[in-house]
Amino acid sequence: MSNKAVIIVDMLNDFVTGDLKTERAATIVPNLKKLVEKAREHGVPVIYSNDAHYKHDFEVVRKWGDHAIKDTLGAQVIRELAPREGAFIVEKRVYSGFYETGLELLLRSLYGGKGVDTVILGGLHTHICIRHTSADAFFRGYRIEIASDGVEAFSQKDHEEGLKYLEEVYNAEVKTVNEIVAEFKKQ
Ligand code: ZN
Repeated sequence: MSNKAVIIVDMLNDFVTGDLKTERAATIVPNLKKLVEKAREHGVPVIYSNDAHYKHDFEVVRKWGDHAIKDTLGAQVIRELAPREGAFIVEKRVYSGFYETGLELLLRSLYGGKGVDTVILGGLHTHICIRHTSADAFFRGYRIEIASDGVEAFSQKDHEEGLKYLEEVYNAEVKTVNEIVAEFKKQ
């Protein structure tokens, strides 16, 4: 028995169909939909960790150009995964969902104040935001599960190397969405 939370990272229009799109992202949408729906059924909190940039953010200016600019359509979660009632949205301005955001406070306050102990990550991109969010989760003592068919990257190489790194360095358990949701039922 563990206190889990699902964190959906950057499934935003700009990353799926917009300026920084990855064709590969489309493949994980149905799996993430299942993950979110099953989490909801079993009372597992669902958190959206979303880029919401200012145009002058370092990451925008120095690296990627305009993407997921706060309050634009590009920064909205894709329609298929639109947050439902009871879901949490935590905006971020760098790769990690924890850096200078309210994510840790939120995780600590769930389960009647007992807090979350296991974070389940899905979304984009395996080797960037999933990796940096995992790093910060690991530093804070959370167990990490990664949905192998619920994360993607710009290339197969980025994705595969990304998963390997998460397993080796953060001791992340890499499982399919079906395996992850099967364990919800046992709780
Ligand atoms: Zn960004």
